[in-house]
Amino acid sequence: IFPGSKDAAGCKATLGVMGGGQLGRMFVHAAQRLGYFTAVLDPDAQSPAGLVSHHHIQTDYNDPAGLAQLADLCQAITTEFENVPAQALQTLAQTRPVAPGAAVVGIAQDRIEEKDHFAACADISGVTCAPYAVIETPAQLQAVLEERADLLPGILKTARMGYDGKGQVRVRTASELAAAWAELGGVACVLEKMLPLTAECSVLVARGWGGQVVSFAPQRNVHVEGILAVTHAYEGNMPLALATSARDAAIAIAQHLGYVGVLCVEFFVVDNGSAHGGLVVNEMAPRPHNSGHYTLDACDASQFDLQVHAMAGLPLPQPRQHSPAIMLNLLGDVWFDASGQQREPDWHSVLSLPGTHLHLYGKLDARVGRKMGHLTITGPDVASVKTVARRVAELLG
Ligand code: ADP
Ligand code: MG
Repeated sequence: IFPGSKDAAGCKATLGVMGGGQLGRMFVHAAQRLGYFTAVLDPDAQSPAGLVSHHHIQTDYNDPAGLAQLADLCQAITTEFENVPAQALQTLAQTRPVAPGAAVVGIAQDRIEEKDHFAACADISGVTCAPYAVIETPAQLQAVLEERADLLPGILKTARMGYDGKGQVRVRTASELAAAWAELGGVACVLEKMLPLTAECSVLVARGWGGQVVSFAPQRNVHVEGILAVTHAYEGNMPLALATSARDAAIAIAQHLGYVGVLCVEFFVVDNGSAHGGLVVNEMAPRPHNSGHYTLDACDASQFDLQVHAMAGLPLPQPRQHSPAIMLNLLGDVWFDASGQQREPDWHSVLSLPGTHLHLYGKLDARVGRKMGHLTITGPDVASVKTVARRVAELLG
């Protein structure tokens, strides 16, 4: 689907996205830069992507009329939000190319299926996930309480709908585990052993319809209270052997899924001296990812450019990073001072510093913990990027 092409009715090539959050907004920007028209399906009238798209279909994700309208407008459709009902993607796929497809999105939506997939391709990926047990029934809970003391202390995670650390409870003892499962409503969960992490990293892979694969170098991520805070993207951000293993593993995971589109695979690093440098696979996101936002400013093709190319069947460029970068997430917290008073951050001082690239998502109200934007710092060398990043953190602190 080339940007200049028209359909039978004479409408210009239009790309669609399920979900109107910031990832959809950056996708829309990338698609429009190439000359595509865009359509966003999201129920929220003020959604960040809906605000900047040619078309905004304001319905629920599984509204038949909304889905029919999206399919009618678009030559290809993607998703920006992994909790889009897989059934909706299935419906769209009856008449349009949808990438990633409903089956792989369905796997990534469910931690139990996701772990089964990681286990199924462990031989080719070379990585396994943290020790865990599935808890879907009171009987399974009882069995874990009696037989899996090895998983404590651990983290109980809902199998579905978790993100940014939501739907997770840290548990130290059997009685805390039983209470936590009740607190989470007795829904399907996994109990994961708490690992002593030395670092976390992620890898972005893009795969085309014909199986072509390109990837970015792994980025090192720092999370605070389960939410991504900082991404370090430069040579030397982690030992080379670890970066190589992570990249190879992510590609193997995407291949094994027959994935089409941009996939992010998140890893834990534990210092266990194993052959893979202590690499443990955590989870995957069937879409561009917060940890890849630096690619907008530091690479010659961003993760959103690759999403557009992959879904439209254009050749996938192997992206080249031209500048070292640090990405700082801007949560709503930055709009409040220490006494809880709302304030406007000192953007003038921040933007006076060299190599600062501010991205705000157009969200109307700042709330603590809400992702409002991000700031990428690029520079000629890692030392100067780190210096500016420290200064920005002080200004926003
Ligand atoms: P989410 O879907 O909310 O991103 P994750 O499973 O990635 O959920 O967990 C969020 C963060 O919590 C991780 O990035 C990591 O910092 C921490 N975490 C999650 N599981 C473990 C674990 N088994 N051991 C240690 N830390 C963990
Ligand atoms: Mg995560």
